[in-house]
Amino acid sequence: MSRRTVAELSRSLARGEFSSTELTRDYLSRIKQFNGVYNAYITVTEELALAQATAADQRRARGEHGPLTGIPIAHKDIFCMQDVRTTCASKMLSNFISPYNATVVERLNAAGTVTLGKTNMDEFAMGSSNETSFFGAVRNPWDPERVPGGSSGGSAAAVAADLCAIATGTDTGGSIRQPAAFCGITGFKPSYGRISRWGMIAFASSLDQAGPISKSAEDAALMMNAIAGPDSKDSTCVDVAAPDYMATLNDSLQGLRIGVPRQHLAEGLGAEVESALQAALKVFESLGATIKEVDLPNSHLSVSAYYVIAPAEASANLSRFDGVRYGYRCADPVNLEDMYKRSRSEGFGSEVKRRIMIGTYALSAGFYDAYYIKAQQIRRLIKQDFDNAFKDVDVIIGPTTPHTAFKLGEKNSDPVTMYLEDIYTIAVNLAGLPGMSIPAGSHKGLPIGIQLVGKDFDEARLLNVAHQYQQNTDWHLQRPEV
Ligand code: GLN
Repeated sequence: MSRRTVAELSRSLARGEFSSTELTRDYLSRIKQFNGVYNAYITVTEELALAQATAADQRRARGEHGPLTGIPIAHKDIFCMQDVRTTCASKMLSNFISPYNATVVERLNAAGTVTLGKTNMDEFAMGSSNETSFFGAVRNPWDPERVPGGSSGGSAAAVAADLCAIATGTDTGGSIRQPAAFCGITGFKPSYGRISRWGMIAFASSLDQAGPISKSAEDAALMMNAIAGPDSKDSTCVDVAAPDYMATLNDSLQGLRIGVPRQHLAEGLGAEVESALQAALKVFESLGATIKEVDLPNSHLSVSAYYVIAPAEASANLSRFDGVRYGYRCADPVNLEDMYKRSRSEGFGSEVKRRIMIGTYALSAGFYDAYYIKAQQIRRLIKQDFDNAFKDVDVIIGPTTPHTAFKLGEKNSDPVTMYLEDIYTIAVNLAGLPGMSIPAGSHKGLPIGIQLVGKDFDEARLLNVAHQYQQNTDWHLQRPEV
């Protein structure tokens, strides 16, 4: 039963084929069996899961359930969960027990999901391979010698290896979409402001968004229905009610106008990814869509602009970890300055320190105009590129990543080659648009993802397009031999 989608599990639970408690025990035993190999979970909340499953079964018996009641879920360890260790995969927070729930967690609890645990990730969500975690790298279920992608690598590996039915992730520059592509599953990043960031540990506040990592677009829609919408605790979460994302999944794609960015088909794109993309475009044409090339002339600047803006925001956000209020504190500090210095030096890993230094430098008085202001101007141009492209098309489709999953250790020595992994995803965060990766092929046994990008707050359209694709293909149904 652990292989099924949330939609299927929900129907089985409703028919009484098995209880949530039985389903939860099944996942917990798979986690015991396989987590040693994949390292997808940092914390397993067995007791909580069984208690929530019992409560869900009782709710179903009373007829008070929704589609997610009793569904086993995993949360990226960036979401605060009350009375549960919330580490952000950092030594800095390795002993932090959150006193409250993130809004995303709170809403999923209210919908009746069963929390199996907290998933591994790159430290403070900085990375593309899940190798920067204080708790060790995650392995890709399709090939344990390869990375699952990052930073939501634990969530992606857990969904792909059927160690949960669905998971939460966050995406600042590609961290939902890139691991989804590498692990052969569906990853959805909503528009900036669609989902509350309350209780989600901040990396780059103007870019971070939460979203589902799932086995299908339909499952993503089910989770979106539970988590999207206004939240008085987050002023950047827009005050507009979210639509019913299930309602439009079956709309026809007849007349859909798809744009393919010329710049994404250029040098750097692997031939295997390009041919998977072309095959997917054929499927969309057969469903009634028209395809045209669009221009995103500034897309080559996105990675550079991001690596000024994201570290700048991170350097400000991470200044709160000072060894005073919570988190790691060095042993035997001799004075206040020594405590700050050593707590931060010992508590943060090297990628996090690199980002803090870049960000502090970019924001410093002498360089602010040259770097930070410039990067913000580029950000505006990138948004304009998308606005122009969307005058003629309804969705933009291209590759999610240049290649399939790379080997552990392969890109560790040169941060810039690692940063370029996000060349197709980062612009979407800079523009605040919804983006999604769905499986659309495979090469030498490794999955290939394609990226769908929508207009501002047009999440429903993206989910519709992805669902129609999945109704007519079976890439999303393929699973690794675990
Ligand atoms: N890989 C990118 C980075 O390292 C994006 C990470 C993310 O989306 N959280 O910053």
